[in-house]
Amino acid sequence: MTQDQSKKTEIMDPRIPSLIEKAERALIVTHISPDGDAIGSLLGLGWALRALGKHSVLACADPVPQPFHFLPGHQEIVREPEGTFDLVIGLDASDPQRLGSPWQQAEGLDAPKIVIDHHVTNLHFGDINWVDTTAAATAEMIYELVQALDVPMNVDIAQCLLCGVVTDTRGFRTSNTTPRSLAIATRLMEAGADLNLVTEQALNRKPLAVLRLWGMALPRMQMRGRILWSTVTRQMREETGVNDNGDGGLVNVLVSANEADVAVVFTEREDNRVEVGMRAKPGFDVSQVALSLGGGGHPQAAGCVIKGSLEEVQELVLSALEESLRRQGGE
Ligand code: 5GP
Ligand code: MN
Repeated sequence: MTQDQSKKTEIMDPRIPSLIEKAERALIVTHISPDGDAIGSLLGLGWALRALGKHSVLACADPVPQPFHFLPGHQEIVREPEGTFDLVIGLDASDPQRLGSPWQQAEGLDAPKIVIDHHVTNLHFGDINWVDTTAAATAEMIYELVQALDVPMNVDIAQCLLCGVVTDTRGFRTSNTTPRSLAIATRLMEAGADLNLVTEQALNRKPLAVLRLWGMALPRMQMRGRILWSTVTRQMREETGVNDNGDGGLVNVLVSANEADVAVVFTEREDNRVEVGMRAKPGFDVSQVALSLGGGGHPQAAGCVIKGSLEEVQELVLSALEESLRRQGGE
């Protein structure tokens, strides 16, 4: 399997809409630790299949995070899908592990597996892979698929897809935001999607506990060359009452420092693993380091989960990033 670092548009395989039209019971799976694009794309496609009169099961191994509970249909997402399926679709994930147990269980089924994704690190692990790395969000691709299926846009599909586009572009601010992102968002708003609701629910709000956690992590920031990094320990999460894994988006704050080309946050998990969130300023690329460490992502936002202590993982990742930045001419 080869990896192409350059972004490329891939035309939708015409077998995708035709397999969906033929399917009687489809399983659609999105990634673990789901974000707004994962949930928005899953629900958007789910609503489109419902409009076609099809029964589909929507699955995610992890619960739907509270910020996405405003999306219509989120209660219908299951963690352990049951029964049999004649089509399986994986969304917004570059490797099969990231799709978790629902995908792994479906791997044994005699049903075509379709992968729809926009990550440069995608491993093309489906029977049919549609990987458009110029899409700012998988939700942009689902918008195109909804059109190919001749499903009239409705407010439910629109609200879910707008959530995907807005969250993956962090409010149209990331470097992968394109005229297409804006054109799709316009059409979704015209169909009744509420941009302000998405922005308020999914971008502007955080539990106070997360801000307290940031308050503990910010003084721990360190610079290594032009890499700004910090850590979130289990104890810090226990003290602040932040139950989710992850840093609550702290790494996005760190990368805003003028002095940093790259930012990293290491979050200690319960299972002797460390979650690594990485961000890069435009012109730098963290996706390939994430891929080499078993994770994936985009040039400007990537991550992985690595077994080991905080100290071990910090050293491994920071030295890999230093080496990569040296090759990218950043030092
Ligand atoms: P975040 O730091 O927000 O969790 O993730 C940033 C980006 O990296 C997202 O696009 C996400 O898909 C990707 N990413 C984060 N962790 C992993 C991982 O463990 N595996 C893969 N394949 N991608 C990841
Ligand atoms: Mn995405």
